[in-house]
Amino acid sequence: MTALFPFDNSFARLPDRFFARVVPTAVEAPRLVRLNRTLALDLGLDPDRLESPEGFDVLSGRRVAEGAEPLAAAYAGHQFGQFVPQLGDGRAILLGEVVGRDGRRRDIQLKGSGPTPFSRRGDGRAALGPVLREYLVSEAMHALGIPTTRALAAVTTGEPVIRETVLPGAVLTRVASSHIRVGSFQFFAARGDVEGLRALADHAIARHDPEAAEAENPYRALLEGVTRRQAELVARWLGVGFIHGVMNTDNMSIAGETIDYGPCAFLDAYDPATAFSSIDRHGRYAYGNQPRIALWNLTRLAEALLPLLSEDETKAVAEAEAALTGFAGLFEAAYHGLLNRKLGLTTMRDGDPALAGDLLKTMAENGADFTLTFRRLSAAAPGAGPAPEPEAVEAVRSLFIDPTSFDAWAERWRRRLDEEPGSVAGRQALMRSVNPAFIPRNHRVEAMIEAAVERQDFVPFETLLTVLSHPYDDQPDFAQFAEAPEGGGRGYRTFCGT
Ligand code: AMP
Ligand code: MG
Repeated sequence: MTALFPFDNSFARLPDRFFARVVPTAVEAPRLVRLNRTLALDLGLDPDRLESPEGFDVLSGRRVAEGAEPLAAAYAGHQFGQFVPQLGDGRAILLGEVVGRDGRRRDIQLKGSGPTPFSRRGDGRAALGPVLREYLVSEAMHALGIPTTRALAAVTTGEPVIRETVLPGAVLTRVASSHIRVGSFQFFAARGDVEGLRALADHAIARHDPEAAEAENPYRALLEGVTRRQAELVARWLGVGFIHGVMNTDNMSIAGETIDYGPCAFLDAYDPATAFSSIDRHGRYAYGNQPRIALWNLTRLAEALLPLLSEDETKAVAEAEAALTGFAGLFEAAYHGLLNRKLGLTTMRDGDPALAGDLLKTMAENGADFTLTFRRLSAAAPGAGPAPEPEAVEAVRSLFIDPTSFDAWAERWRRRLDEEPGSVAGRQALMRSVNPAFIPRNHRVEAMIEAAVERQDFVPFETLLTVLSHPYDDQPDFAQFAEAPEGGGRGYRTFCGT
């Protein structure tokens, strides 16, 4: 019989000091909450077998799958600006890698499957709430078209985990292009382990930037690749109102995927100073700070890579700076290109960033809901032909405390749209394809978690997953899931997903 997972483990072939070999801890009474059958098929796995006792034992950590080489990876990281030389997978265990039907290699990792040598004071466990949040939000991000880790399965363990209260335990099976982080490089740099650093960089190049191997300076090309992916990723986050919440360097993936969904949340009312995480007291990771923080993190990556960039220190710094200088332009291009599409503009003119910026400013001043404003704008987009429906315009206006402030802006927008080529229908279709109707609204996510944790009711989880798998479709049957919470969601708090 073929293996459940056709593992081919490249990370496990790296030197011993990259990780600790550790097996998952068997749990008492696992129950499958959900298997992501579509993802299983994409990965070339057999969903029926994964749902059978054989697969299920693996997904709960009761049994080590054939071909797996379970390990906890070592990494370091800056947490809220403070460097911690030793972090590592404290509650995650990499089982191995599979190459999917698309030819892409992906990590299969259990999260919440017991202690590792990197657990420090933690228990190595995950609670059901954060597991469901990560499953739902990461799958929603995927459906929104934003690079992200994926969720293959969630199981409950039948064992309690002790947090502020006693909670049901769970294990998430996370799928990622890799789990290499900025902090992985910092781990070796902090130890002056240049050979480790080189081995990691070569591994990262092979996995994520194979063309960099041919470049004049492969390590600079790697840094440029990571910079580009991160600039585009953060622009995409801003475009859907996503706040990561804990952009520590150990939570920033070299692959350019959104990773670590602990305290993440989406904006309701637009305010760039929004920070939901209870531990982010100074708003370091606030919505509007995310581009700056991404560059800060990339600068830490560049510092870690210095010994590889050149033997000559001055030259190494110049190479690093040259790569990092690209960030601003890449981010601006991605961000303003996206904002233009969100406004139905397919060309780029000098005044466009100001036009978009003024809308955002007016939204912030008027407590306008981010998602609803852009989605309703899609219906209110005028074309060269008949004026937009008054109801469609009113639907946007009503989102602003002072609707006339929207009118003033909308007049400028209409004049700008007059200069655009293309049909009204085409424009509306473009806008609808970048302005989602459905995002994981915080009040919905909380209600879903409460139902699962308090009442073992997983129906809200399944329903939300269904709605969020088609975020750009209208889905009239689920219209209530598009609605904003009372009061614009102010005062909402999230907690690190421990
Ligand atoms: P995070 O803020 O979730 O990225 O986690 C930061 C560090 O704490 C990582 O090294 C995690 O592996 C570790 N960690 C978080 N929660 C736990 C836990 N319950 N048990 C052990 N380690 C944990
Ligand atoms: Mg983390």
